[in-house]
Amino acid sequence: SLEQGPEGPETPIQVVLRVRPMSAAELRRGEQSALHCSGTRTLQVSPPGGGPDVAFRFGAVLDGARTQEDVFRACGVRRLGELALRGFSCTVFTFGQTGSGKTYTLTGPPPQGEGVPVPPNLAGIMQRTFAWLLDRVRHLGAPVTLRASYLEIYNEQVRDLLSLGAPRPLPVRWNKTQGFYVEQLRVVEFGSLGALMELMQMANHIPLPLRTSRSFQFVEGLSRRRSSAHSLNQASSRSHALLTLYISRQTMPPVDPGEPPVGGKLCFVDLAGSEKVAATGSRGELMLEANSINRSLLALGHCISLLLDPQRKQSHIPFRDSKLTKLLADSLGGHGVTLMVACVSPSVQCLPETLSTLRYASRAQ
Ligand code: ADP
Ligand code: MG
Repeated sequence: SLEQGPEGPETPIQVVLRVRPMSAAELRRGEQSALHCSGTRTLQVSPPGGGPDVAFRFGAVLDGARTQEDVFRACGVRRLGELALRGFSCTVFTFGQTGSGKTYTLTGPPPQGEGVPVPPNLAGIMQRTFAWLLDRVRHLGAPVTLRASYLEIYNEQVRDLLSLGAPRPLPVRWNKTQGFYVEQLRVVEFGSLGALMELMQMANHIPLPLRTSRSFQFVEGLSRRRSSAHSLNQASSRSHALLTLYISRQTMPPVDPGEPPVGGKLCFVDLAGSEKVAATGSRGELMLEANSINRSLLALGHCISLLLDPQRKQSHIPFRDSKLTKLLADSLGGHGVTLMVACVSPSVQCLPETLSTLRYASRAQ
């Protein structure tokens, strides 16, 4: 478990691998598993035509039998939360092909109907972190202000998912105190888990019946994310979604409107599917999407590999290459910690994409 990781942010990127269970459809089609865990940190990949297994090592490897609570613990998210409370910028992002379990890992399964909450035992890393953080802040006794913003990056454009009017693309700016930030992004204060959930509901502009504050239901906010039906998955996510919590230890003097607060940050990123454009059979607009998605993901991989290069001596990190890397720059670049949860399907049918996910994830550590 990464709970025993180093005290400070000396290890900038930690990688956890999660293998989801075989889906009902995969089982129905009689697909075989190509993956098995050996120990808690090694994944063995068996090539379908025989041949020797290939092993990949990560900070933690979690198989399909592991629960949401297991994943939350193994990821050591509480440690990230503590660092964020001390003023660091921390990011948790999920990476993998569409259908590999990224959204499930962050927020749990999709709701079974309007007003039906996600059962607490199936709540994802995000709800668990919110509940933990609010509890921690209550026990700290010190005045802490919690704020949240929620945006998506779609075709290299930033869209505010909490905007009150019709969302329009917002520019990403840079200044000395804050680094990169999104101009005019709506940042909303919240004081309870219920308030955060309600915020997520309001994000929709859809008149849903109000949820109870105890419900772990904020997947609604996610429904405004762009998705388009294509041959891989009916509701594949084509955008990167970033939910950021801003943690201020004391009441800060009012900041300029349109600039986010200064202090610790905890950011959750549900990345777009990492599959190659060739696998989706996409054309036209979808091709443009796939290129922007891959550009952000390639830029992210490139920045990470430069950051990890031991030969690097103050070399330039090209965070400016994509909106995604700009907005993750402070977590990646020395002032924080980044946790990558790589998600894969166990099925042999997914092996080509699984291998590219495993390689991408391996290069990040
Ligand atoms: P992604 O966000 O990567 O496209 P999803 O999180 O939507 O993938 O997962 C695809 C499907 O598999 C969903 O129906 C989801 O509920 C299910 N699923 C994913 N991971 C798990 C898991 N660990 N246990 C049970 N079901 C899962
Ligand atoms: Mg998803």
